[in-house]
Amino acid sequence: MNKNVLIIGAGLTGVLLAYRLKKQGISVTVLEARDRIGGRIYTHLSAQETPIEMGATWLGQQHTALNQLLQELQIPIYPQYTEGSAWYEPTAIQAPQEVMLPHNESPSYRIQGGSSALINKLAEGLTKDELYLHTVVTHIKAHNDAIEVVTKNKTFTASTVVSTLPPNLLATSIQCSPPLPEHLMAIAKKTHTWMGASIKFGVSYPAPFWKKHHWSGTLYSNVGPITEMYDHTTVEQDKYALKGFLNSELSALTKEVRKEKVLAQLERTMGEEALEYLSYEETVWHEQPYTTAPYENFVFPHQNNGQTIYQKVQYNNRFYIAGSETASYYGGYMEGAVRSAQQCFERITKK
Ligand SMILES: Cc1cc2nc3c(=O)[nH]c(=O)nc-3n(C[C@H](O)[C@H](O)[C@H](O)COP(=O)(O)OP(=O)(O)OC[C@H]3O[C@@H](n4cnc5c(N)ncnc54)[C@H](O)[C@@H]3O)c2cc1C
Repeated sequence: MNKNVLIIGAGLTGVLLAYRLKKQGISVTVLEARDRIGGRIYTHLSAQETPIEMGATWLGQQHTALNQLLQELQIPIYPQYTEGSAWYEPTAIQAPQEVMLPHNESPSYRIQGGSSALINKLAEGLTKDELYLHTVVTHIKAHNDAIEVVTKNKTFTASTVVSTLPPNLLATSIQCSPPLPEHLMAIAKKTHTWMGASIKFGVSYPAPFWKKHHWSGTLYSNVGPITEMYDHTTVEQDKYALKGFLNSELSALTKEVRKEKVLAQLERTMGEEALEYLSYEETVWHEQPYTTAPYENFVFPHQNNGQTIYQKVQYNNRFYIAGSETASYYGGYMEGAVRSAQQCFERITKK
């Protein structure tokens, strides 16, 4: 098959699609704006090499396509640690409460080696002529027989192009000529990018002091700045951290102020041992370039995820709009990214 496919974005959708196409003998080029692959999957290593998931972390048994992919790649998963009691802060004027949470019938799982292990495995076969980092796509120019993809330093030409950007980011950051249909653009601008506004934090420790007290490391709070938090020990039980989400309104503060507030909350719930930490890490996702773009109007979580309009191939059957938010099921999640990549692969190879 004489086909070359250019994929914009090296998140889970992009690297899985490239992996499948390459296995099929189809020539691929992946252009990634960041200096790393993975997009919203990012296992950050602290100075002490404690892995902290700054992006996607959990999957469930219902995520069948993702589970199947992990099995195919022989990447094990393990249940999120929840043994022991949790902390709950109902209001600012009530003391934190130690509570036993009901047994979870459908547990969450983590990916052994960190979520980036999945990305790295899929991308390991890509050569430097197939995967370009620091390469920001600015324009797409469609012709009858091919599509030109313009970046700052180079213009690429391919018979088939796939965008894996969250639709709102595609609509607002890449100029397309001729323009994509107005109706499609209007929906793309109202398509929510999952977790684009979230703040993730992680605090690493020399030992999991919470386990000594039979605490799971789980915290739910209506007070903040931490809204939810979980144990983040590695499966090998050799690196320890607590990790969770901060109230996204705190993005207006500096990192130092957020850190102080997080430590104060950990101290008021778990006591002084929480202050004997090794490192504090955080990612304010809306400040991360190439993740999300401001919406013209308010959008609800998951709004327009999986819209049928994304199934239509544009520019003379040469331009696919893929990515987790375009998936018909589980849009916004890793599962959606896997389903989107698989579907795109099937459509390209059947063409
Ligand atoms: C904080 C957070 C927590 C999450 N938690 C979970 C979870 O627990 N479970 C779960 O299932 N999902 C979770 N998710 C969602 C999950 O991360 C995404 O669904 C999935 O990673 C999306 O993959 P993708 O490839 O479709 O998109 P992305 O990962 O967004 O990939 C798009 C890629 O395109 C690149 N790009 C953007 N613009 C350009 C350009 N102009 N030129 C070239 N490249 C460009 C980006 O840098 C990026 O690498 C979370 C996300 C976040 C942010």
